[in-house]
Amino acid sequence: MSLANKLAEERRARLAAERLLEQKQAELQAANRKLGKHAKALSEEIVETRAEVQTVRDENARVKSDLTIAHQKVEIAERRLWQSIETIQDGFAYFDGESRLIAANNAWLSVFDGLEAVQPGISYVEILQYATEEGVVDIGENLPVAWREAMLDRWQTMSPEPAIIRLWSGQYIKLIDQRGVGGDVVSLALNITDTIRHEQQLKDARHKAETANRAKSAFLANMSHEIRTPMNGVVGMAELLADTSLDDEQLLYATTIKNSAEALLVIINDVLDYSKIEAEKLILREEAFDLERCIHELVLLLQANASDKGIDLVVDYDLFLPTEFLGDPGRIRQVMTNLMGNAVKFTETGHVIVRVVGLPDDGTEKMRVNITIEDTGIGIPADKVDHIFGEFNQVDDEQNRKFEGTGLGLAISQKLVALMGGDVWVDSVEGEGSTFGISLSLQLASPANAQNLGAPAHLRKVLLVEQNSLARAILERQFGALGVQTLSCTTGKEALLQMSDDVDLVLTDHVMPEMDGFELAEALANNGCDAPIVLLTPNLGAAEQDPGRRYIHGMLQKPVSRAALFSALSSLPTPTKEETALEVPAKEESRKMRVLAAEDNRTNRLVFAKMLKSLDLEIEFATNGLEAVDLFQSFQPDLIFMDISMPEMDGKEATRRIREIETETGQHVPIVAMTAHAMDGDADGILKAGLDYYLTKPLTKDALTDHVLKACPDSVVSPEPVQSVA
Ligand code: ADP
Repeated sequence: MSLANKLAEERRARLAAERLLEQKQAELQAANRKLGKHAKALSEEIVETRAEVQTVRDENARVKSDLTIAHQKVEIAERRLWQSIETIQDGFAYFDGESRLIAANNAWLSVFDGLEAVQPGISYVEILQYATEEGVVDIGENLPVAWREAMLDRWQTMSPEPAIIRLWSGQYIKLIDQRGVGGDVVSLALNITDTIRHEQQLKDARHKAETANRAKSAFLANMSHEIRTPMNGVVGMAELLADTSLDDEQLLYATTIKNSAEALLVIINDVLDYSKIEAEKLILREEAFDLERCIHELVLLLQANASDKGIDLVVDYDLFLPTEFLGDPGRIRQVMTNLMGNAVKFTETGHVIVRVVGLPDDGTEKMRVNITIEDTGIGIPADKVDHIFGEFNQVDDEQNRKFEGTGLGLAISQKLVALMGGDVWVDSVEGEGSTFGISLSLQLASPANAQNLGAPAHLRKVLLVEQNSLARAILERQFGALGVQTLSCTTGKEALLQMSDDVDLVLTDHVMPEMDGFELAEALANNGCDAPIVLLTPNLGAAEQDPGRRYIHGMLQKPVSRAALFSALSSLPTPTKEETALEVPAKEESRKMRVLAAEDNRTNRLVFAKMLKSLDLEIEFATNGLEAVDLFQSFQPDLIFMDISMPEMDGKEATRRIREIETETGQHVPIVAMTAHAMDGDADGILKAGLDYYLTKPLTKDALTDHVLKACPDSVVSPEPVQSVA
């Protein structure tokens, strides 16, 4: 190889080596740069890790200090808790799952004072053993083994019932044990000695109060009996005295005695009722009764008073509401008497309306009956409305003091209605009038009672002659509800003008100015009217005696009950038939009505005889129950008045015997109880003994007369009073 070639080759080799060097240097540099970067990242990582390590160290230090603090806190809390547990007077103990005592406070341990064995570590069974053997507990009549078994059984239940034990010292301890997780038991022993003593004192006090209350009730019962018996003499004799020929001054004295005695009886009855309700001695009876009839009877009673004042007293009984319900008729009547009596008492002009409506009570088989008594009287100031339901409370101003009353009526009524599960309310505007309402949920007496009522098909148009706008409006509404058209007039004259051929019935008021009901009937008959005429009269007895009745087809006592109205409508002659008057069939007048009265008190027999003097009757007296039974058989009375307390045989027993005798004959003589007992429970016993009615003494002429007339058989001479009863 030439030198040139060699040189060229060497130069190429040198150049190649230089390039390689350059390349390696570049690579070295790149590697260096990479290394530099890596070293930087590494050192950054080291710095970071160091910081983290520092943080963790810090955290550790903090946790350590927190733990120390927590530890201290736990210690404090435990100390405080234990201090508190030691401070409380009641015992506290803690048992483990094996029923071994872990800890107990001094109060708990002190019960076992002196027994060193009772300390942490002892088992519950051993504790029970010490408790009985060392006489720590007073186990009474129990055997120690039985007592321990019972206590252990209780302890082993999942959640032991609290138990009360008595210590030897007479202290009472209530044990409350609570089982926790793992079977641990926290046991509290509460010292309830004071509570038990207090309870005992309360029991003793209650027992004493109940004894006193019973004594009070017995005293009231006796007092009512003792007062009523002589009062019967006072009221009865004063009534009879007033009937004799007296000069004006004497008559005034006699009537004052009677009125004062009656007023006294009202007060006694109110006070008695109130005491009975307060003593929770008042028992409500439940029997079937006719609500409408009850209200109408009260209207009849209050009518005289209302008419004297010139106020209208009307009843608006929902035509489609049944009338027979189950309830305590005596008490419902008492409430209604109070509310209706007040309405008449506190009204000088205008009217008193008793409205009765009812709807089925949701979800029950009962009816919600609402009765309102609306008056146009003096009203009650708004600030006194709540006050009047309180005891002895009246709207006490000058104006009101002229009205008599005890102020107990509404308090009694409210309590009675509440006992029946109902409400009483009042709505009143002073000077304009008041509306008192009661709402009762009453069971229907029988399903038949809810039957649908309707007018006879041929009755399409009625001529109504009634001067009282309220009574007229009520009748119009009732006929309207039956689908019968009404043509209303206020006088007889107007009726004569209005009368037309398409009138199927004339319903006329009895007492009207210018032309009364009978005169109208006669005039209509003379005009050739052939529609039946029915008279509405406030005095049926007197109307029946009136010669004008031959023009009348039927008579109804006002206020007209729904039953009477429907019965009159259903017995109207149909247009196709010959007209037949609704005459009461003539009585076969053969003998006098026979009345037996059993009464041991001579004065009362005298009063009784005098009170029935004006009736045409045959009366026999028995002086005890035995005589009554004998006379029942020999005298065969149509009616018996029976005193309840009599020597030898009382009225209840005598009645039972009479009812026994009657089972053979199938007859049933009405027996009216006469009793001086006003306390409840009596009435129940009396009615259960087979008596039909119940009269409390003092007896009144009206009440006796009512019973006689009610019981009078058709076949005897009418005993109607010579002078009609007012
Ligand atoms: P009494 O009527 O015996 O005073 P009540 O308890 O029945 O007792 O009534 C309490 C009072 O409520 C009455 O004194 C009277 O002031 C007032 N009061 C009751 N009903 C009416 C009424 N319908 N109109 C006006 N005030 C009445």
